[in-house]
Amino acid sequence: MGERCIIVGAGHGGSQAAVSLRQEGYAGEIVLISDETDIPYHKPPLSKAYLKSPDADGLVLRPESVYRDDSIDLLLGARVDAIRVDDRKLALGDGREIEWTDLVLATGARARIPDLPGVGLDGVVTLRSMADARHIRNMMPGIHDVVIVGGGFIGMEMAHSCSMLGKKVTLIEAAPRVLGRSVAEVVSVHAKARCRVAGIDIFTGIQVAGFEEEGGRVAAVRTADGQRFEADMVVLGIGAVPNVELAIEAGLAVDNGIVVDAHMRSSAPHIYAIGDCASYDHHHAGRRVRLESVQNATDQARHVARSIAGRPNPYREVAWFWSDQGDMKLQTAGLSFDADRHFISGNPEDNAFSVYHFQGTRLLAVDSINRPADHMIARRLLAAGMSPTEADIAAGPQHLKQLASEKGMAPA
Ligand code: FAD
Repeated sequence: MGERCIIVGAGHGGSQAAVSLRQEGYAGEIVLISDETDIPYHKPPLSKAYLKSPDADGLVLRPESVYRDDSIDLLLGARVDAIRVDDRKLALGDGREIEWTDLVLATGARARIPDLPGVGLDGVVTLRSMADARHIRNMMPGIHDVVIVGGGFIGMEMAHSCSMLGKKVTLIEAAPRVLGRSVAEVVSVHAKARCRVAGIDIFTGIQVAGFEEEGGRVAAVRTADGQRFEADMVVLGIGAVPNVELAIEAGLAVDNGIVVDAHMRSSAPHIYAIGDCASYDHHHAGRRVRLESVQNATDQARHVARSIAGRPNPYREVAWFWSDQGDMKLQTAGLSFDADRHFISGNPEDNAFSVYHFQGTRLLAVDSINRPADHMIARRLLAAGMSPTEADIAAGPQHLKQLASEKGMAPA
């Protein structure tokens, strides 16, 4: 057998890795395996536009002809059940075995399911895939009361999308604030306020205790403090767990994701991991992270292609993310874990402001609400390792842009 790279998972990371391999001049066979039956598609619209407009064709990541023209063998509806490291083979669910010379795990993450009474009832749903989104959309016409469990990005987006569809929406978050793991407190407060303006009932610091049934399907959500919320649909949005079982069974190192180095190499030779299922030491954050974003998956895909093609280039991309919540476009650049101080530019009352996260004088991250120019400049500053002063930020985006392009600031 000649060279054959197999990519397990054809989401944002897997699909990009396949085309990037060809762009990097990889001449071997490329097999891209997905356990979904849909041709690889954009996930972000599933919690946003897709629920409102039925245009699934617009979601396709790349037309089928791209895979054909690049001689990428796209196997849909095929699940990889096991990988064998010693003889470099993998087993498909239908019993077939395929050999590989290089293997990329791009298996993503799945919805976390809470261990609560009634969680398996009809009408209690999660949203990770096109199939999930179709199911939810098909249910929509008969739905009046939606309860969203979890105020993370998907929960908040779904709350706004359902509200825009005319549903009565209640969102319940166990933590003291929504989006708590990702953004500054002022952004959480603002996002909660925008929910209220949109007519969404939002509760924080309340634990869901279980789901009540009526006529074979969910009828209400009960909380630990004794409240009861009527619901004919419940969306669970309490986070995701990485799909790492294949890696664990094959003996690969796993630490909140398949452990990879800066070249996306796992602990086993010729096996790589990218995207939501991979964890790595982030050069800027100085800690091991596992990120769930399109940027992370597609940039790592480009890097893994370079590694396999023999032109490794350490992964040092700036992390960035976006989320559309009603009239709020939230964009984050960088990672704010170790921030000890914030500086706000703009006014939350205008629904347009940015929060600059610093550790000492070092810029770590910027959250922007309806300020796309700030976001783009923040990415450039972070990529160049530059930290503006508060006076620079207060001078406005034009000034920051000029500084970034002149590299006028000392490296952080
Ligand atoms: P995925 O795209 O999840 O692909 C993994 C694929 O592998 C899946 O198709 C899975 O079924 C398949 N797979 C798993 N195991 C196997 C197996 N054993 N055999 C075969 N196939 C397998 N990110 C943003 O940056 N901005 C957003 O606004 C945003 N919105 C989102 C909205 C929703 C509803 C969701 C679900 C995610 C959103 N994300 C967003 C996150 C983003 O989509 C993910 O971070 C990204 O898809 C990760 O890419 P990936 O390739 O690692 O995994």
